[in-house]
Amino acid sequence: MKIITIIGARPQFIKAAVVSRAIRQMAARGMDIQESILHTGQHYDYNMSELFFDQLALPAPKWHLDCGNNTATMKTVITPILQAEQPDVVLVYGDTNSTLAGAEAANELAIPVAHIEAGLRSFNNTMPEEHNRIATDRIATWLFCPTRTAVENLHREGITRQVYHVGDVMYDAALLFTPEESKQEDVLTQYGLQVQPFALATIHRASTAENEQALTNIIQALSQIPMPVLLPLHPHTKKTVQAVPALQRLLAQATNIRVIEPVGYLEMLVLERQAKYILTDSGGMQKEAYFQRTPCITLRNETEWNETVQAGWNRLTGTETASILHALSMPFDTKEINEYGDGHSAEQIIHILCPNVS
Ligand code: UDP
Repeated sequence: MKIITIIGARPQFIKAAVVSRAIRQMAARGMDIQESILHTGQHYDYNMSELFFDQLALPAPKWHLDCGNNTATMKTVITPILQAEQPDVVLVYGDTNSTLAGAEAANELAIPVAHIEAGLRSFNNTMPEEHNRIATDRIATWLFCPTRTAVENLHREGITRQVYHVGDVMYDAALLFTPEESKQEDVLTQYGLQVQPFALATIHRASTAENEQALTNIIQALSQIPMPVLLPLHPHTKKTVQAVPALQRLLAQATNIRVIEPVGYLEMLVLERQAKYILTDSGGMQKEAYFQRTPCITLRNETEWNETVQAGWNRLTGTETASILHALSMPFDTKEINEYGDGHSAEQIIHILCPNVS
């Protein structure tokens, strides 16, 4: 079986790392399966892209495109590659423009698509990600869902064939890559955080990262948290901050906020585990907060991961300063979540995709 994996954004490198690893392990055991990676170039900074290939031993892309973040442009460049290669399956992840471009290009060539992280919905139609998810799920032949809610979402949309609750490949990744306890101290030392509680914050979603008022409110909230707040700044958010002097002043005055460059995944897993709180608008980090048993404040009004809210690990605050601070002041009453699988989602996916391959 010949697979082409199409990825382009940071969280996709992490998800693909565990699936690609499972493919290579099965090939090493004699299974007739091979994968090539196509990188759309959606994320291109070293610490948003190449660093993840290095840290997670993801094989170098066979094709590394440079077509920006426009779905139509990506599709135009991907199509001739798929046409020439004629893979048995195109594998796509999540909800970015690279996901939809890959899925649409394959679909138009009648190449079957497998969607990993299918069925997630925010029910917020203003999010470009929501459009990408829905459109990709309509195209996909195999729909691999991380949660039962995702399965139900697809059923409600009339998508019932080849829908599988396999758990979350990000849980596989967190189990596989979280550095052992003895190495965690080094990461804290690297960021000068070893002796005190700290909070970890990330902001990157377009609705926040491009919204001066929302960023102002969030930074004001972060500045009032009585502990250091580590803020690895996404390039998207950095661009807005650099363009708005008032935001730069606010950050400069907030002496507890430490703005740093985006960190590697291994460092991020340690920071997530050791933080007292995580504040984020990231999808992936809401779950990673639970994987590391750290309470999470989600700086949005809705989430694709409702089970984290229901289990008490995650609170939705939107971007208002007062609601963020209020959510932090309340105790977190938590329980375990039984949705994300047993850490072997990647293997399950490959077995479903290749039932007859030996
Ligand atoms: N991440 C990372 N370094 C950072 C920020 C995030 O390795 O500086 C990881 C994080 O641990 C998670 C993933 O990137 O696995 C989440 O990606 P992002 O927030 O960009 O996208 P989303 O999950 O919202 O689609």
